[in-house]
Amino acid sequence: MAKILGIDLGTTNSVAAIVEAGVPRVIENKEGARITPSVVALSKNGERLVGILAKRQAITNPQNTIFSIKRLIGRRFSDSEVEKAKKILPYEIRPSQNEGVEVKMGDRWYRPEEISAMILQKIKMDVEDKLGERITEAVITVPAYFDDSQRAATKAAGEIAGLNVKRILPEPTAAALAYGLDKNINQKILVYDFGGGTFDVSVLEIGDNVIETRGIGGDTFLGGDDFDQRIIEFIIKEYQSQEGIDLSKDPLALQRLKEAAEKAKQELSSLLETEINLPFISAEGGNPKHLYLKLSRSQLENLTRDLVEKSIEIVDKTLKEINLSPKDIDEIILVGGQTRMPLIQQKIKEYFGKEPRKDINPDEVVAIGAAIQAGILQGDVREILLLDVTPLTLAIETLGGIAHPMIPKNTPIPYSKTETFTTAEDNQTAVEIHVVQGERPIARDNKTLARFILDGIPPAPRGIPQIEVVFDIDVNGILTVTAKDKATNKTQSVKIESSTNLSKEEIEKLKREAELYAEEDLKKKNLAEVKNQADNIIYQARKILNEYQDKITPEIKTMIETKIKELEEAKNYDNLEIIENKIKELSATLSQIGQKFYQQNQDNVNQ
Ligand code: ADP
Ligand code: MG
Repeated sequence: MAKILGIDLGTTNSVAAIVEAGVPRVIENKEGARITPSVVALSKNGERLVGILAKRQAITNPQNTIFSIKRLIGRRFSDSEVEKAKKILPYEIRPSQNEGVEVKMGDRWYRPEEISAMILQKIKMDVEDKLGERITEAVITVPAYFDDSQRAATKAAGEIAGLNVKRILPEPTAAALAYGLDKNINQKILVYDFGGGTFDVSVLEIGDNVIETRGIGGDTFLGGDDFDQRIIEFIIKEYQSQEGIDLSKDPLALQRLKEAAEKAKQELSSLLETEINLPFISAEGGNPKHLYLKLSRSQLENLTRDLVEKSIEIVDKTLKEINLSPKDIDEIILVGGQTRMPLIQQKIKEYFGKEPRKDINPDEVVAIGAAIQAGILQGDVREILLLDVTPLTLAIETLGGIAHPMIPKNTPIPYSKTETFTTAEDNQTAVEIHVVQGERPIARDNKTLARFILDGIPPAPRGIPQIEVVFDIDVNGILTVTAKDKATNKTQSVKIESSTNLSKEEIEKLKREAELYAEEDLKKKNLAEVKNQADNIIYQARKILNEYQDKITPEIKTMIETKIKELEEAKNYDNLEIIENKIKELSATLSQIGQKFYQQNQDNVNQ
């Protein structure tokens, strides 16, 4: 059976792994490395470079070297994350036609999916070379906070690269899988992921056959690159004071400095001291100048301590948000190359009072987890449960602005729900489908995921048309909403290329707000429902007046009209009791004439 590839498509680096005979292993790339930089470039002589070759020329060819594309994939140009990313990315970025993003490389513009596809394609080809067989299917990981749109775009990147993406898997879940922590033991796991450009923390809870994400936090602009930058700044300052030469203006020197700084940083994770040796870094009066200095681990720690402390503060904040304390965590898993730094491991140990798990290479653990998930799908790995759940409720706005839940939070996916709705006005020929995500009972207090119009509904009294709405979440958490007019079979649907991105903080914020406003929200919802009832009865009353106008006496007519008017006025005040009373009065009046008619009819029959 063909093998399914597990891929960690990282912001900085990507890794591929596969399960063979039940055992996961990382596959080396063509350059013989286990890790491939997520960098694509068009070299000065027009050649497309992917991976280490692209990374090596990044600083000297900044406008044609695309890195950190993961910051842009599946996002809207107007997104604040894109705004921030633009500040640190040297290549050109512009809005695409569909309000997404495009980047420029050479003289062409590309969608982020296309750039990611180039990375995936290299990975796929290298694995095929290594294994001597074709690979057509993959499991690809994404950060836990990726929304539907980002997941869908990642999936699309896979498809462009010729990979049928069997599943999109959250990175922390993959890490837990790699450690085999998904067994039926109830436990809480904290995944501390310090990558090249981002810091993510996730709290997972395992139990009842589900891996549930309890909380997520992080900083999308805190990563290993910041550590390199501190070293670069340090070297530039030293060199300036020793030689009087400013290296910061020389791109070639900077490229070499960046490489040397990252290498020194990595070496200092296992050595106490290292040398930075860059011959011919500059020239003065025609004479070559060299750079040589020593850097110790403690120097590095002093240069970067605040970055490490910042990450611990984020962990602390994330735990507090979900009312957990460090001692509630059963296992801490280290993910991301930067967690190899001893200071990070030490600070985590101090904070939690226990050792974190680091027995699987932190830069490979996510890919290993993806391979295990692939192994489960291909039937090579047995007995592992893996259920993703929806983090927040998915709902549709109904009459009065009420959020009507279609898929409750924590529903294991895939999942599909069908419900039939109708119109609110007579002769209404179009309905707006407003899809929201969140726990608040009033739609507008939640996050809008999509809005679309189903039109062409044949005119009919309100309540008659039948609009069938389907919410369908696939295994990758991608939501498709379809609305169909049953009379005409006219259908409209959206795949949620989510307009609004739910960041990790947002999910927790929305949940917290829902709790905070629970009481107030319930009142609002009840009020909206009573107003709906009021509308309903007013509609019926008018209909009766209309239909039986010759049969009702002027007194009764005036009486009903007065009661309608009073109820309409009551609706303007947000007082539940008053509206309810007026509804009762109108309904009592209506039933009176009902009785009269009945009486009359009876009389007629009896005559
Ligand atoms: P991402 O998930 O962002 O793609 P990775 O998990 O591959 O990234 O982490 C990349 C970061 O880890 C880089 O900043 C790299 O320098 C750093 N890193 C890798 N190995 C080490 C090490 N031995 N010590 C310290 N940092 C390291
Ligand atoms: Mg990563």
